[in-house]
Amino acid sequence: MKACVLRAPAPIDTNPLEYSDVPEPQPGPAEVLVRVRVCGVCRTDLHLIEGELPPRKSSVIPGHQIVGVVEKLGEGATRFRVGARVGIPWLHSTDQTCEFCRTGKENLCDNPTFTGYTLDGGYAEYALAPEKFAYPIPDSFEDAQAAPLLCAGIIGFRSLRLSEIQNGGRLAFYGFGAAAHVAIQVARYWGVEVYACTRGAKHQQLALQLGAVWAGEATAAPPAKLDAAIVFAPAGELVPPALKALKKGGVLVLGGIHMSPIPSFDYDLLYHERMIRSVANNTREDGQDFLRIAAEIPIRTRVTLFPLHEANRALNDLKSDRISGAAVLDCRS
Ligand SMILES: [Zn+2]
Ligand SMILES: [Zn+2]
Repeated sequence: MKACVLRAPAPIDTNPLEYSDVPEPQPGPAEVLVRVRVCGVCRTDLHLIEGELPPRKSSVIPGHQIVGVVEKLGEGATRFRVGARVGIPWLHSTDQTCEFCRTGKENLCDNPTFTGYTLDGGYAEYALAPEKFAYPIPDSFEDAQAAPLLCAGIIGFRSLRLSEIQNGGRLAFYGFGAAAHVAIQVARYWGVEVYACTRGAKHQQLALQLGAVWAGEATAAPPAKLDAAIVFAPAGELVPPALKALKKGGVLVLGGIHMSPIPSFDYDLLYHERMIRSVANNTREDGQDFLRIAAEIPIRTRVTLFPLHEANRALNDLKSDRISGAAVLDCRS
């Protein structure tokens, strides 16, 4: 099969993904082999390609927002039929036995595997998943529309949950890319007033089109005090201004897997019971709940399609902020 393979981490402007022929994977017990139709491009892909996340596999196929069709069932796989449309997310599997898994926090599992990181992912014509960790994709979404829901969408949704934002509350997004452009639609559906702090007129315009009451530069002070803020940009320097924008008791959620160092700040910014917390992965329950709500709203994603062999270009565009909404690879040859 054709796939984009990363042999070793390198800066994305050196185009390190090799479009090459590799053996088609075969499903093991309780796994499904999926013919990939599309795969979303996530900032995490960029972090692992450039080595900000340490390599976990010597040669890896990235990609963890996979939408495709079940082609083959591994031994004992019964959950999906051949031909069923499924999504494969970042959380590839958990041990289901550690203290976190046993207490409903499988997102924090001690022994997880991750699609497109510890195992090959979806920048390819075929990908594998344990059937328990794949999601049925609601019929109302087209393939490309559904791809960004699988990581950007689910992580945004978990970030919203952890922010404890309520109907009528005020919430800011710092950074307005793939995750925020989905999360704002959920927040608006919940009756939340949204502020967008993000660099660049293009992202600010998208936020306003999607119902933000205000959009400004990333470090600008929003015109009202906030109940909560979510930082999606991988920029630690946004933490102090985001804290400053919060009301007493406000919650700041850091939605990324990687962030540049957070500068020191005065305790005043945190005092009065403001809280900072990170988001790590998601549980399958988050994913199921989110996909149900996404179909109910219904969420509309903005996607820019690239052919599979142009994955390097998609990632370069993502890094230099040239994507409005989400980048998605078309993996059908
Ligand atoms: Zn992701
Ligand atoms: Zn576990």
